[in-house]
Amino acid sequence: MKKSAGEKTESDIMTHGTNPYEIVKSLLKESVSRLGLNENIYHMLKKPMRVLEVSIPVRMDDGSLENFTGYRAQHIDILGPTKGGIRFHPLVNIDEVKALSIWMSLKAAILNLPLGGGKGGVIVDPEKLSDRELETLSRTYIRKITPIIGPQKDIPAPDVNTNPEVMGWMIDEFDQLRGYNIPGMLTGKPIIIGGSLGRLEATGRGVALTIREAAKILDMDLSKTTVAIQGFGNVGSMTAKFLHELGVKIVAVTDAKGGIYRKEGLNIPDLLEFVKDKQNYASDYQNADAITNEKMFSLPVDILIPAAVENQITKDSAPTIQAKVVAEAANGPTTPEGDKILEEKGIFVIPDILCNAGGVTVSYFEWVQNSMNYYWKEEEINQKLEEKMLFGFDKVLKMRKEKQCFMREAAYMVGINHLVKAMHARGWIKEDDLSEE
Ligand code: GLU
Repeated sequence: MKKSAGEKTESDIMTHGTNPYEIVKSLLKESVSRLGLNENIYHMLKKPMRVLEVSIPVRMDDGSLENFTGYRAQHIDILGPTKGGIRFHPLVNIDEVKALSIWMSLKAAILNLPLGGGKGGVIVDPEKLSDRELETLSRTYIRKITPIIGPQKDIPAPDVNTNPEVMGWMIDEFDQLRGYNIPGMLTGKPIIIGGSLGRLEATGRGVALTIREAAKILDMDLSKTTVAIQGFGNVGSMTAKFLHELGVKIVAVTDAKGGIYRKEGLNIPDLLEFVKDKQNYASDYQNADAITNEKMFSLPVDILIPAAVENQITKDSAPTIQAKVVAEAANGPTTPEGDKILEEKGIFVIPDILCNAGGVTVSYFEWVQNSMNYYWKEEEINQKLEEKMLFGFDKVLKMRKEKQCFMREAAYMVGINHLVKAMHARGWIKEDDLSEE
């Protein structure tokens, strides 16, 4: 029987690994306790305030009807509207979307953005859809979640397998339903219809900035460092671009189809040209040797950058890692068992909720520009992004020193502290709720 674009086999689900919602809950719990806060705070933070499941019927090109499943989770809106991307992936599930919405809240809190966390997803393999089917799916999904989104409520954006083109269809659908243009209803739009300059590059630029800061602390000379990157979508490729500009040598890149390796360093401008317009996979690039994803993790590089999906650094892959720094450009790439091994090995981890927060930061700038209907120059946006990233990095570093802990724990504590202050200011929690019994 033909496997349809929205269907998952049991083995797909089994191989997905550890449940990200369970992971984020246990990290929240630990951090709340480490901060000396009452466990009630954990119970407040662990549940998204709203989760919606929708069915998305799509008439396929062959005349058949497929009914896809989608979700939108909104974590907490005490700092502002919820915000976060929409992913199209066969392994999307409700727990993943919930976890991702919590991570978005923490990112916004660490960088002091007036936003909460949200995330959406559709269970689909977009590679199996024609352009028309993909557009219909995108439009139908946004129609189905329309009652709970909007520029003052919840603001979607791109995530895994979604891009400005998809955002263009989605905003058009929303505007047509509402009867007028509402550019701030989502971010990551094409520039011509209210997108922000610098948004496409923002996550990768932010990742490179955090690596630059980490290198300063660790006394690493970036012009002498080597890097391997897992994933060459928007985030992986933009990270490669900015690291290359900083003089870093990128020796390996992998993607969904395979990987490439060149000891002397890959020609990044040429590789970026090769993958431009999504015509080719990076792994098809000829001027390099082939490498497997597994092998890439164990390369003798200075910095390893997971920039794909969750659960990549595990109890199996972590022991093979030789890098001194792991920069988590993806959301949730490390399992708790993998994390423990990285800690034992003394690897400096730039945790996802700090490392990849550049995307939502420039999304925030896009939303601000949309509300004032006045647009900044790219230099201004990049400079504001740098300020925010350095602000967040510094806060996490200070917490790490104060609590003598690892970067991930410090990042969670910074985010939770910020949210707790807002809950307190709103009268959600009283003094008694703050301290441990
Ligand atoms: N999907 C991105 C993330 O995980 C960006 C979200 C946004 O721009 O709102 O951070």
